[in-house]
Amino acid sequence: MMGDSLSYDDVTRMLRGAAAQIRANHELLSKLDSFGGDGDHGTTMVRAMANLDKAIDDCTAGTVKGLLFDVGWAIMGVDGGATGPLFGTLFMSMSEAAGDQTEFDAAGVASLFDSGLAGVRKQTKANPGDKTMIDALVPAVETMRAKADAGVSVLEALDAAAEAAAAGAATTKEMQARFGRAKNIGEKSVGQEDPGAKSTSFVFRGFHEGAKQDA
Ligand code: ADP
Ligand code: MG
Repeated sequence: MMGDSLSYDDVTRMLRGAAAQIRANHELLSKLDSFGGDGDHGTTMVRAMANLDKAIDDCTAGTVKGLLFDVGWAIMGVDGGATGPLFGTLFMSMSEAAGDQTEFDAAGVASLFDSGLAGVRKQTKANPGDKTMIDALVPAVETMRAKADAGVSVLEALDAAAEAAAAGAATTKEMQARFGRAKNIGEKSVGQEDPGAKSTSFVFRGFHEGAKQDA
């Protein structure tokens, strides 16, 4: 990383970092999904991240905008219910904010995340408190923005965003699911973290891990 911003190559490392975190934790994600869902969240996310890796390998756009679009499109194509559309939209909506920028400082990454969150929120009526990925995504994105506004480095801001996502996922343990399959088990959904919130926290942890790696 040169200076305090992410280049195209840094963004590829950031994205691959998310894939690595998901692969390392997929069993937990499927276990969490087995309580109120159908137990497939880990395997679906692993397939989504395989598509992510392939999209990076195959991307010919040469721009962060094109890269995020291709990654989002590839994830969108993962069958397996809620995950493809929601995570695919996150990356495709991030792409919309990338413009022709080649370097992304903390404020630049915050703008990508703001746009990603706005896109996801158009796809679902779930609000914070409904025990979904939104409970991890909202605090992560808000923290990224707050840290950027406070002038911290992009890596510090990504680290704080990952911490906020993990804390947000932890809050879902005491919530009752109001969206997704887990809604069907009602009160029995209380007591475990939401799988999608947990995977979101791994994605953000991976963003930081990947972005801090040098070539
Ligand atoms: P499926 O439930 O279709 O098998 P996954 O198991 O891959 O999909 O993902 C489940 C996760 O997706 C949930 O834990 C939740 O975080 C998220 N999710 C499901 N439906 C919604 C929704 N309508 N809005 C927001 N998040 C949702
Ligand atoms: Mg499932």
